[in-house]
Amino acid sequence: MKSARALAREQFDYSGFHPGQRAAIEAVLKGRDTLAVLPTGGGKSAIYQIAGLLLDGPTIVVSPLLALQRDQVEGLASHGISGAELLNSTLPESQKTAIFESLQRRETEFLLLAPEQLASPEIVARLRELRPSLFVVDEAHCLSQWGHDFRPDYRRLGHIAQELGRPPILALTATASPPVRCEIVEVLGMQNEAIVVAGFDRPNLSLEVRRFENGDDKREALIRAVLSGPKPAIVYAATRAKSEALARDLRERDPKRQLRTLAYHAGFASAKRDEIQAAFMHDEADVLVATVAFGMGVDKPNVRAVYHLDVSDSLDSYYQEAGRAGRDGQSASAVLFYSPSDLGLRKFQASGGRFAARNAAKIAAVIADLAGENNGETSVSQLREEVDLSATSLKKAIVQLEDSGAIQLQSDGTVAVEEQLDFAQLNREVEKSRRAAREWEKSRLEMMQLY
Ligand code: ADP
Repeated sequence: MKSARALAREQFDYSGFHPGQRAAIEAVLKGRDTLAVLPTGGGKSAIYQIAGLLLDGPTIVVSPLLALQRDQVEGLASHGISGAELLNSTLPESQKTAIFESLQRRETEFLLLAPEQLASPEIVARLRELRPSLFVVDEAHCLSQWGHDFRPDYRRLGHIAQELGRPPILALTATASPPVRCEIVEVLGMQNEAIVVAGFDRPNLSLEVRRFENGDDKREALIRAVLSGPKPAIVYAATRAKSEALARDLRERDPKRQLRTLAYHAGFASAKRDEIQAAFMHDEADVLVATVAFGMGVDKPNVRAVYHLDVSDSLDSYYQEAGRAGRDGQSASAVLFYSPSDLGLRKFQASGGRFAARNAAKIAAVIADLAGENNGETSVSQLREEVDLSATSLKKAIVQLEDSGAIQLQSDGTVAVEEQLDFAQLNREVEKSRRAAREWEKSRLEMMQLY
């Protein structure tokens, strides 16, 4: 077998490895389940790319966003590796078949897909036949139900790995906190896992906290800092309304319109979000005032400063957000504008976990009702009609119910309920998870407060 080092040099033109890469690649090549925690830009993709090429058999890569999948395929192509394909629901059947045939003939090494694709038993069966040699879970923190990037479909990936014949699992993330690491290992069912954490030192990035007793003074100081400071800059605010108001004030305080300042949040239509992001990426905007909706998969090297109008919900999030400055290795700064009353807003937002728990009990009752009429099975879309909840709230509640063992989510999208649903037991489980959520959020905020 060619060595990882030789492949990195010849195929990728890398003269050496970044911290953590070699250890993670070696663990994977030994057939071990591996969790690699490297900062964004730390070269996580190279781990699966090099290990995947050295292992005999196709590599399946689960990744949450189509844009990220496209980037990865382009990244491989830029190294002259053409054997990478995307599988998504918009592809016509003929094209899907062509992709599977090419995997069968070993002309395609990497198959990238979103976790939703794996909800189809047919796709899972076709993948199993290929005898994949590696199952990669990119952005693995998406399986943590307490994080911003939570994707319910990620919770099923441990089962899916089993159904695929249980190849070694490689989980990749930049989110370093120990509780999230434990959750990844547990949910994916990793065994005798190697955990590699590396490369979090960013000497070019200066960190600063400015403390204010009064929220107005804080906002004023931030506006002045942004106007006079280096660009391009990102400003994080806790809510959509705050991000728009702050962008507006920044524009008004810059009467000669020397700066182009844009707001970004999840309330905008996706076409508009793409347009704003593209403007910022191409240096057509100087300041982006955003909520946490901005960031995953964004790799803009020349961001000179990241400001926070509000504290992040945890140090993990802060590290991710602040770490978007200075990716190019040139000096950059991260400044947190803090006033103690800010924690109140975060505590209010953190209570979201409690709503999920309450919803879970409500939904369980509806499922039990519907199940009586439908031979014990109910579809998720039927549930959505019956309970007035957003798709995300519904999914969160379903995950909680599944975790507590009260229901089973089938791969065909139906929900099966225990024949004798024990409501007293269910309520205890829900209360337990509500307490756990509260404790979890509290400890995350406390760490932020200590910082
Ligand atoms: P991540 O997924 O961790 O954010 P990527 O895998 O996208 O990071 O890598 C970031 C950049 O670093 C890419 O341009 C990649 O080609 C480059 N890179 C990765 N590993 C190495 C290496 N060992 N030497 C030099 N460049 C590397």
